[in-house]
Amino acid sequence: MTWSAVLDQQRAVEALRRAIDRERVAHAYLFYGPDGIGKRAVALAFAQALQCEQAAGSDACGQCTACRKVQRLVHPDVHVLLPQPSDADADDVAERLQRLAAHPYAAIDFVRRPSLTDATASSNKQAFYSVGRIHEELRRPMSFRPLEGQYKVVVLTDAEMMRVEASNAFLKLLEEPGPRTVFVLTTSRPDRLLPTILSRCQRLRFDPLPAPTIEQALVDRDGLAPDTAATLARMADGSYMRALELSENDDLMANRSRVVAFMRWAYVRDHEQLADAVEEMSKLGREQVKGILRLMLSWIRDLMLFGTMSEAAPLVNVDQADAIQKFVENVPRADLEAMVQLVEEAMELAGRNVQLKLVLMALAHALGRAMHGPHDGTLYVPLAETSELALPG
Ligand SMILES: [Zn+2]
Repeated sequence: MTWSAVLDQQRAVEALRRAIDRERVAHAYLFYGPDGIGKRAVALAFAQALQCEQAAGSDACGQCTACRKVQRLVHPDVHVLLPQPSDADADDVAERLQRLAAHPYAAIDFVRRPSLTDATASSNKQAFYSVGRIHEELRRPMSFRPLEGQYKVVVLTDAEMMRVEASNAFLKLLEEPGPRTVFVLTTSRPDRLLPTILSRCQRLRFDPLPAPTIEQALVDRDGLAPDTAATLARMADGSYMRALELSENDDLMANRSRVVAFMRWAYVRDHEQLADAVEEMSKLGREQVKGILRLMLSWIRDLMLFGTMSEAAPLVNVDQADAIQKFVENVPRADLEAMVQLVEEAMELAGRNVQLKLVLMALAHALGRAMHGPHDGTLYVPLAETSELALPG
């Protein structure tokens, strides 16, 4: 991919282009910043600019054999590595790299995406760099001159996942870099890298992307409808990858309906409906419930925004503006700040080993009261396990 496929990150891009233009390319770079904002995309554009056979300065032509090989991630002098579980399957790894080549912002790592085919699958397998891989996949190939490129480029994604032994082996490579070798390390956790590795890298900070940038990309590149794109972009906290993940999540829209129904029933104190909703939600499991509570939080924050800015409010749930307006009009006494506190506390409890049903029931009750007037914002969850759940009036 060429630089034009990179979203924003001008500072990092300019620094790298200048380095190529002035022929002052460093041996090692560290790209750091949150996940999903373009560290890998920039690394790949940089690799292509370095390898292009007909480059005009730091601009790759996009047409030559080298460019096409880098684009497909099959260039023998461009190595892209990702942390792997010890039993990772070679075909699976190859497929992940192909997906990265097709969409450099896609989630392809084993931790966020244990299964490529199922976006909701989870796994507690650890992914890491073993010392064996550093030797096999880096030390040996790096000891030769470039095969057909002008440089040897290594992109080590999520570099903080090197274990101690692997870090030390990698440090040796950094200390004695081969001719025309460029290492690019990407990480969201630079604090977890050895100081001796950090000090040998030129560091470039990457910033979260503005929501309008993500929104535009979702429409232009991923073919999303403008309304959906706007909503997902605002939910994504500056991460294009996160927005893509959300767009793949079929449960998202269903969960938003659950949130609206939950709040409505809590307000009118429909105990029967609430008991059913709580029962159904708690069966979805802890992770899903946390996701639902996050949506609830974004919904309440939208109510606050609409309350102060009305039509000009930059709503997250922009496609639900009508429902939000109605809510604000119909529930004028709601203590929204207390509601935010309540949902945050419920999220915290849902992350711990507290029975989900108890948390959700207590939340329904407290939200119901906070929607009718001032509330102290504390959630009372009876910690004794009870099988009969009563909703206090
Ligand atoms: Zn080229």
